[in-house]
Amino acid sequence: MKAHAAEGRLALQRCTACGNIQYPPRELCGVCLADTLEWRVTDDEPGEVLASTVLHHSHEPAFNGKLPIHVGLIRLDAGPTAIGFLTEACSAGTRVRVTAKLDYRGRAVLSAALAISKEVS
Ligand SMILES: [Zn+2]
Repeated sequence: MKAHAAEGRLALQRCTACGNIQYPPRELCGVCLADTLEWRVTDDEPGEVLASTVLHHSHEPAFNGKLPIHVGLIRLDAGPTAIGFLTEACSAGTRVRVTAKLDYRGRAVLSAALAISKEVS
């Protein structure tokens, strides 16, 4: 996933035997144990915030001056649930678009921004 994240893309494993999509990556499918996994790569993935919290303190020097930070548990429409940074305050039920990127240490992190409704009123 790191290579995809470095390109700003989110990669989820998809089992070619049963279609299960899983995150984080594993060597075998979590449903049928098949080892025939492929990467499903997207620029962003729609999802819904299940829960969120706000960090007001961190021992991580990189967060100095950036607090408070919003963090959330997000259920991706593809199935997996992940933890990611929220670009703004969100509550349970908020629709978001999740993207991957590398943090300052080169580790893949997920970031969720409010989804823009495509509905026309
Ligand atoms: Zn499977």
